[in-house]
Amino acid sequence: MKWITHALIAIGRWLRSLGRAPRERRFRLQVFEERARAVASGRSNEVVALFRSGGTNKWCFFVCPCGCGQQVALNLMTSHHPSWRVVSDEQGPSIFPSVDSTTCGAHFLVRDGHVIWC
Ligand SMILES: [Zn+2]
Repeated sequence: MKWITHALIAIGRWLRSLGRAPRERRFRLQVFEERARAVASGRSNEVVALFRSGGTNKWCFFVCPCGCGQQVALNLMTSHHPSWRVVSDEQGPSIFPSVDSTTCGAHFLVRDGHVIWC
């Protein structure tokens, strides 16, 4: 019966490798009232983490979709410059205007949770 155990382990490995296969990046929005929790959740690959305080959107955090691994932090307060706007519906978040990373050079839009390269 040992071969069954080995077969199950092999199938498990194969299924996990499918999960790791590259696929199109899709963001979903998570909203936090605590900045530290937003920063922490914004380290997950599929999350745009929005920090909101007193009913006002303050910052959003997400991992740069280019693969550089850096976390992007966007100011959402119109009192500060530059500022971005995040809107979200059931399709996913959209970020306006485009994001132009000064560290890795990535330039992209986020629309309905999808990354569109510029
Ligand atoms: Zn990048």
